[in-house]
Amino acid sequence: MSSETSPGTLYLVATPIGNLDDITYRAVKVLSSVDLVAAEDTRKTKILLDHYGIVKPMVSYFNYNERQRAPQLIARLLHGESIAVVSDAGTPGISDPAFYLVREALAQSIPIIPIPGASAFISALIVSGLPTDRFVFEGFLPQKKGRKTKWESLLTESRTIVVYESPHRILKTLAEIATYFGDRRVVVARELTKKFEEIVRGPVSLVLEELSKKPTRGEYVVIIEGFQS
Ligand code: SAM
Repeated sequence: MSSETSPGTLYLVATPIGNLDDITYRAVKVLSSVDLVAAEDTRKTKILLDHYGIVKPMVSYFNYNERQRAPQLIARLLHGESIAVVSDAGTPGISDPAFYLVREALAQSIPIIPIPGASAFISALIVSGLPTDRFVFEGFLPQKKGRKTKWESLLTESRTIVVYESPHRILKTLAEIATYFGDRRVVVARELTKKFEEIVRGPVSLVLEELSKKPTRGEYVVIIEGFQS
């Protein structure tokens, strides 16, 4: 197992977005072999590690401690430890704090190795039925300041648009899409790979109507059809 990782190396390890089986053999080997796991949500990651019988020291690394935690992780890497970074779910660095650590590690010439796997936006995009040959990933939209400007900047975007959204704002976001884009086709993918997985496709007015029928729960990806000239 130890040959799976090299000393002083940072591994960005993709983990499941729900279903614990959605992890690669290599990810399991790397998680078993590193000296330390830096996890966005240590409780969630412990469930994953337990599932695969992996016992490993863990530290938290999330949005609000990244600036304090990153230098500690860099110091350990420079001392020769191997570290795996895992996010709450999916691929580290996609709309989560791994990006900051990658930049800091690069500044110190620390080797960084990707261990690819699940990402919520790819899973949503491929089942959307909207064009996948060109798309733009917008991650989380600004919540207040800059939100209107962002929508306006996307009005004539011809590529398929991908957005992450929370259950608290999903209806508001769909209503805004209707306001700014008219009755564009959208796809809402909820709780992918989980028990309550649901994919709703159609003109935004109908999707909004459908989603308004019951409480909004879980995690969402919204895909918006690009501008058709
Ligand atoms: N790094 C992750 C990735 O590769 O997808 C994304 C992290 S971001 C902090 C979390 C967001 O991803 C959620 O708010 C939701 O929009 C989306 N997401 C994560 N898991 C999901 C799932 N199972 N189904 C739908 N969306 C999901």
